[in-house]
Amino acid sequence: MTRLVILGKQGAGKGTQCALLVEHYGIPHISTGDMLRAAVAEGTPLGLQAKAVMDAGDLVSDELILGIVEERLAQPDAEAGFLLDGFPRTAAQADGLTELLAPGSIDLAVNIDVPDAVVTERMLGRGRADDTPEAIARRLELYAAETAPLLEYFGGQGRLVTVDGLGSEDDVQARIVDAIDDAR
Ligand code: AMP
Repeated sequence: MTRLVILGKQGAGKGTQCALLVEHYGIPHISTGDMLRAAVAEGTPLGLQAKAVMDAGDLVSDELILGIVEERLAQPDAEAGFLLDGFPRTAAQADGLTELLAPGSIDLAVNIDVPDAVVTERMLGRGRADDTPEAIARRLELYAAETAPLLEYFGGQGRLVTVDGLGSEDDVQARIVDAIDDAR
């Protein structure tokens, strides 16, 4: 089992946990946020289009995101599996992913669960340029409205595990690896 999705609010520790997981399982880390930030830094047309949306804490269009994910999944390194981070984020993206792959080809979605108050504090602390209090609140609102329903989507397929995201990075990592290995 190597086709994984990681779910969790911004500030839940997805980035850190993904870096550890891709090393552990030897699969590529596919982060739509990282791809968008790279496009912004390079000043590509995609980056120019995405920047204002990202700064406001809003979601980039499903169409645009599905385009970059399709391109990325077509790379040879994704054949052996992958860890999707920050995608899918909406029901339309989940449906788009099912169209790109065969239904049921995501082995497991791992949800890192951290309360809103804790992620807000963490995000304010990391001080990224797009982490204004307004953008943080907007992202939590969008997570609840658009992304939380995906828990039911993967849960309904019997492909979801939720792990407690509080505690040290190592503790959370151990919980995630246990959950993935248990589900194999
Ligand atoms: P992230 O690093 O995953 O937190 O993403 C940073 C920002 O990029 C988000 O706040 C969105 O504006 C945008 N973004 C990243 N992934 C997606 C996605 N799957 N759908 C829509 N917008 C996204």
